[in-house]
Amino acid sequence: MQYVSTRGSAPALGFEDVTLAGLASDGGLYVPESWPRFSEADIRALAGLSYVETAVRVMAPYVTGSLSEDELRELCTAAYGRFSHKAVTPLVQLDHQHWLLELFHGPTLAFKDVALQLLGQLFERFLSRRDDHLTIVGATSGDTGSAAIDAVAGREKIDIFMLHPEGRVSDVQRRQMTTVRAPNVHNIAIEGSFDDAQALVKAMFNDPAFSTKFNLSAVNSINWARLMAQVVYYFYAAVRLGAPERQVAFSVPTGNFGDVFAGYVAAQMGLPVAKLMVATNVNDILHRALADGDYSQGQVVQTSTPSMDIQISSNFERLLFDAGGRGGPALAEQMKGFETSRAMRLTNAQRAGAAKLFSSARVDGDAMNMAIRWAFDGAGQVIDPHTAVGLAAARGMEVEAGVPIVTLATAHPAKFREAVERATGLRPPLPTRMGDLFAREEAYAKLPATFEAITAYVAERATPRA
Ligand SMILES: *Cc1c(COP(=O)(O)O)cnc(C)c1O
Repeated sequence: MQYVSTRGSAPALGFEDVTLAGLASDGGLYVPESWPRFSEADIRALAGLSYVETAVRVMAPYVTGSLSEDELRELCTAAYGRFSHKAVTPLVQLDHQHWLLELFHGPTLAFKDVALQLLGQLFERFLSRRDDHLTIVGATSGDTGSAAIDAVAGREKIDIFMLHPEGRVSDVQRRQMTTVRAPNVHNIAIEGSFDDAQALVKAMFNDPAFSTKFNLSAVNSINWARLMAQVVYYFYAAVRLGAPERQVAFSVPTGNFGDVFAGYVAAQMGLPVAKLMVATNVNDILHRALADGDYSQGQVVQTSTPSMDIQISSNFERLLFDAGGRGGPALAEQMKGFETSRAMRLTNAQRAGAAKLFSSARVDGDAMNMAIRWAFDGAGQVIDPHTAVGLAAARGMEVEAGVPIVTLATAHPAKFREAVERATGLRPPLPTRMGDLFAREEAYAKLPATFEAITAYVAERATPRA
């Protein structure tokens, strides 16, 4: 399988190169040159398969030329063996129509583990083949940092430097990062905001000498391999609810548009997806874009769903590319316009392409709280605030009678227990495997938010390229 850039001028690459590159050299994102198609018989044959076997079947077409089926199976077995539920992503029923797909049984209690545990395995495999070394630098406001650290802790060919804004991530989130004691894990608390941390990371990537010397890499959701790993659970869930004979709808709590784009990919592959609901909080750029064609950046408002407090959704470019007819050069122009004016209109083709599958909703704090209570009162399920944004949107969805609606449960309620407690009066306990999180010793550096301080710290500890 070859991959092309959404901006049309970077060279096409195979899966291994795309995984290690992340972003394309023309500033675009990689997408497969065409979608592999599964027939109804192919989908029917997934019935009853384990999560790992489903993953191997769904991802095999995307890795041809880079991994054999046996290698893929080995990596998936290692990645998903670390989940605490044997079904990896189990379904839970809420009423006759609504279901939750629990994606939070990984090591750090958020759905990002599903993709990052596999990405860690892929990095290690490809780097040992090349005898190369990678330095991951990232900024996190919470979930991505802990999931990325867990995925690469102890790996020989990778160092990870994770910046978080001092005092501005929750205690659970900070401890999930700072109590991981491995020689290749470097946590840094920045004396500044999340935006300051992100600006520092960008500045390191924009310094070609520094970035080349340490082979810098990012782990944010623009990496194709992350999206690919997320396509699997759409198949896994839909097959259990009656696909290919029955259509299934999904509601997805959305920030960077990675998770819901994986649902779009599943539909392009032939999965009978009735509708994809893009559920946003009050940071609603995606809702405005899908409903009115207005993609314009506003100010980020802090909510109790911090992983969705986003005003630019990097993966949206992939949808604009594919749904808009795959015109790379035209999209490059459109995105350049957005980068200068912070606003753009979707083309008619993009809007029509998106409207075939997507609907969207903006969910405020009251509606989110009501959804938490609805799940608790009706089904005894304690859900986290991100999941509740998805469920609130799901309950307003219009689908044909008989179509099940699956809300993706993206985080464990204990990760955001203050908000859950406000809505239900219940304080969800940490799962037993996390029980000693507050007894573990923390280690992290505290640095001023300056380029000099950060680069000196990284240069002293990272492995330069041979
Ligand atoms: C990252 C995250 C999201 C948003 O997912 P995207 O792929 O960025 O749209 C939603 N909920 C939780 C808990 C997350 O960690």
